[in-house]
Amino acid sequence: MNSIEKKGVIVAHYGVEVDVRFGDKEEPKRIGVKRKSGHVVGDSVLVTDGVLTRLPRTSELFRKDARGGLHNVGANIDVLCIVVSCEPLAPSNFIDRAIIAARAAAIIPILVVNKSDLDCFSSYFDELYTAYNDSVEIFSMSASTGANVDGLVKLFAKGYRGVFVGTTGVGKSSILNKILPSLDLQTGVISETKKRGRHTTTVSTLHRLQDGGELIDSPGFNDFGLVDITVAELSAHFPGFETIDDSPCKFRDCLHRNDPGCSVVQCVTENTISISRYKVYLQLLDEVESLAQESQYRLSRNRRKK
Ligand code: GDP
Ligand code: ZN
Repeated sequence: MNSIEKKGVIVAHYGVEVDVRFGDKEEPKRIGVKRKSGHVVGDSVLVTDGVLTRLPRTSELFRKDARGGLHNVGANIDVLCIVVSCEPLAPSNFIDRAIIAARAAAIIPILVVNKSDLDCFSSYFDELYTAYNDSVEIFSMSASTGANVDGLVKLFAKGYRGVFVGTTGVGKSSILNKILPSLDLQTGVISETKKRGRHTTTVSTLHRLQDGGELIDSPGFNDFGLVDITVAELSAHFPGFETIDDSPCKFRDCLHRNDPGCSVVQCVTENTISISRYKVYLQLLDEVESLAQESQYRLSRNRRKK
């Protein structure tokens, strides 16, 4: 008998088993995989006689756990929704880091400014608009009142697969519940662990949206979960430097500091890149450089110990 090959997508991962969704109407099927098989939610797979073959990925996104270990959030993600609010505020530079991490992973970053019903919203939104409107799409919404939830639904309806990242308390679970009521996530002032329940703390799951598009629910993907960015990623993807895409710096590895033939410095002089954005860049560059030096130091010290 000829074996039948079926194409599907991994929608949940449980160690030695994955759930694979085949058709639009079918329930996902549970299939065994090797431990540490490397399969993740969002992977496109071919299944022949219960054996799974992974197809090439267009993108992959990683997050860090509390101990610095890396986890793959999902494969073939199109958009990273960076969720922020005026209360609580994200740590400084969080938005820049998230945009850079997304771009470095070939994923479109989108800024979702939640809690538009709060008094502190409008001045915060204006600030973000000035800094980021030339770089990314900016959404304002309120998960509480439901304002502009349909705007976000429409965005996904283009067929995008997305995931949310943001500081605890900005409203990620509330937004997910609005868009996907069947998830029924707990919200509010409780610990992340309690929020997700003991067994599901680190399991990412993929959900299809009614009007089109898909969402990955990735517990623990908060500001601490962002992967460290490198100096090269920072200088290539900093939001606000897009104007130099047409006339790049003389050197490909230009750090836009004192480098000769630097287009960024030129644009700052000509006011086509704002001085305030440039200052944020220089500050972030110092930070990223000293973090890299620190980890280099730790690495060589550990080597010497061995
Ligand atoms: P998460 O930690 O990012 O998943 O945030 P939650 O969804 O748990 O929300 C944290 C708190 O913010 C909860 O008390 C929510 O009720 C509240 N919240 C969420 N969205 C909004 C909103 O649009 N407006 C207001 N005022 N509060 C919100
Ligand atoms: Zn430069």
